[in-house]
Amino acid sequence: MSWTTGAFFFVGGLLAATVAALTGDGLGSRAIVFGVGLVAVLTGILLYLMGERMPVRAHPILVSLGTVLITVAIHWLPGNTAAVTLSSLYVFVACDAAFFFSTPVTGLEIAFAVVCCMVVTGTREHLHWWIGVIPAGVAVVVGVVVTILARMAAEADIDLLTGLLNRRGFDRLLNAEIAKAGRLDQRPALVVADLDRLQTINAHLDQPTGDAVLQQVADIWGDLLEPEQTLARLGGDLFAVLLPDTTERTAVGLTDRMRAAITADCSAGVTSWQPGEPASMLVSRADVGRYRAKQAGRNLTRLESGQRIALAEELRRAIAEDKVEVRYQPIVSLPFGGKVVGVEALLRWSSATEPGLGPNGVIRAAEEYNLIADLDRVVLRRACLDAARMQRTVPDFDLTLNVNVSGLELADSDYANRVRSTLRSTGWHAGQLVLEVTETQLEAESPNAIDNLNALRDTGVHIAIDDFGTGYSSLSRLAAIPSDILKVDRSFVAAITADSPAPPLLGVIKALSKALDMEVIAEGVENAHQAAVLADLGFSLAQGYHYSVPRTAQAILDELIEQRGMVAHNER
Ligand code: C2E
Ligand code: CA
Ligand code: CA
Repeated sequence: MSWTTGAFFFVGGLLAATVAALTGDGLGSRAIVFGVGLVAVLTGILLYLMGERMPVRAHPILVSLGTVLITVAIHWLPGNTAAVTLSSLYVFVACDAAFFFSTPVTGLEIAFAVVCCMVVTGTREHLHWWIGVIPAGVAVVVGVVVTILARMAAEADIDLLTGLLNRRGFDRLLNAEIAKAGRLDQRPALVVADLDRLQTINAHLDQPTGDAVLQQVADIWGDLLEPEQTLARLGGDLFAVLLPDTTERTAVGLTDRMRAAITADCSAGVTSWQPGEPASMLVSRADVGRYRAKQAGRNLTRLESGQRIALAEELRRAIAEDKVEVRYQPIVSLPFGGKVVGVEALLRWSSATEPGLGPNGVIRAAEEYNLIADLDRVVLRRACLDAARMQRTVPDFDLTLNVNVSGLELADSDYANRVRSTLRSTGWHAGQLVLEVTETQLEAESPNAIDNLNALRDTGVHIAIDDFGTGYSSLSRLAAIPSDILKVDRSFVAAITADSPAPPLLGVIKALSKALDMEVIAEGVENAHQAAVLADLGFSLAQGYHYSVPRTAQAILDELIEQRGMVAHNER
């Protein structure tokens, strides 16, 4: 601001001095005009050197001072022609005010200049009073035009470097799109991406090279998008893409293609809009995705699912309202011809938000949104109550109940207490409970987890290592995790086929369990041949579709009754 004002003073002063020099007569008056010009030039230089330190409030005063100097110079100029010529300098006043000041201040500055112009030209001898209308009118018109242009430029929606929408334009578009999506029940997706190394490019090469990279990226990405999809530059090297009514999966696919199309590394976050959400929440979720992409090693796409949030909310409600169901898959004795000796409790919950989500997906979402402890507690409680009901039907043998535990939950120092309190409140006996810990979940090795497992074993609970053989199995890890049972992953069992010999690893696992004095359960037994081979290898317990798919507690009860040849008088 001060540089522009300074430039006006400098040029105006030079012009005044030149006009004074060129005017032939009136030496004394010319000297005054010359002096005024010199003052203006010096003010201009001063503003250039020290204007930064000048308070912004002082600028209107300076511009008024310029008006006064012009007026004084015009008044003292000897010739009328020269005076009228010099009155064109009022345009500088109008421009400066229109560009930098608020509209009322601009109006006042221009009005002051117009009055000065009319008075100083109107009072000159041999000059029609209306001659001043011309320079005054020009100043007013220029002032108005510059005011309008400056306001428009400030409110522009376009990024000048790339020709894309800027942040302001994008915000407007996003709000309009969200309003439309709400009306039409659509789900727009949002991508926020930035270049990982633009600062380095700017620092090591130069700004124009960095600008060229940004323009190139904008061009390449623009070509990849459909007409209704909008690319914007939010600032610096930060871009955003608004994709109307697009699934998260499609948005991630497009983002990966965009990243692959450019040579620069780029980290991107993707999300989708959820009904009722403001634009700011959508943008910050996509931004979280971008940060996660950077944390995970840069040059990646990360989905920060909007659906997941809705899913987590739905799951939270289901847990609170006890709407999570549990199914039971029998664990059978191989030497006793497939007699049921226990059951594994398996969570069942169908989500309206993500209808195809299986138990693994539910567990992952629960872990991600800190719901796993509540979820596992609900499952454990329901399973203990159902198992107690089953046990009452077959009082003559100890039914074993297997329940899965998330490694995350196991790392919680209060876990063992929670299990004990559930056992107390449901009346299920600790000695008949097996907690299945997945070997791949490394948290199971944390000190808290080990303490929990030891505390639980002290109360009589057994620990099984689930999916054994798929994780980073090592003998030392096996010794580190307090455990009693190995559940051999079903991939080993699936390798037992009619036309190939029994996989040697199964024999090794059996021998290992014997050496460690652990029980083994073979998972995923799907046919009689696999069952026979496992029995030959010395396995005593098995589980799988060959015996039963996971079923309701009532269905298991009916089977137990049938197996024992009992008369059904159960507590349905
Ligand atoms: P898992 O503990 O390995 O459970 C066995 C999975 O194998 C179950 O899948 C079961 O339905 C399936 N299955 C059983 N027999 C066969 C078979 O013969 N062939 C094949 N191909 N599959 C068979 P499901 O119910 O989908 O559970 C998946 C996983 O979700 C479980 O794997 C377990 O890790 C986890 N999970 C289930 N319920 C809970 C729970 O309440 N809490 C926790 N933390 N995790 C759970
Ligand atoms: Ca399991
Ligand atoms: Ca398993």
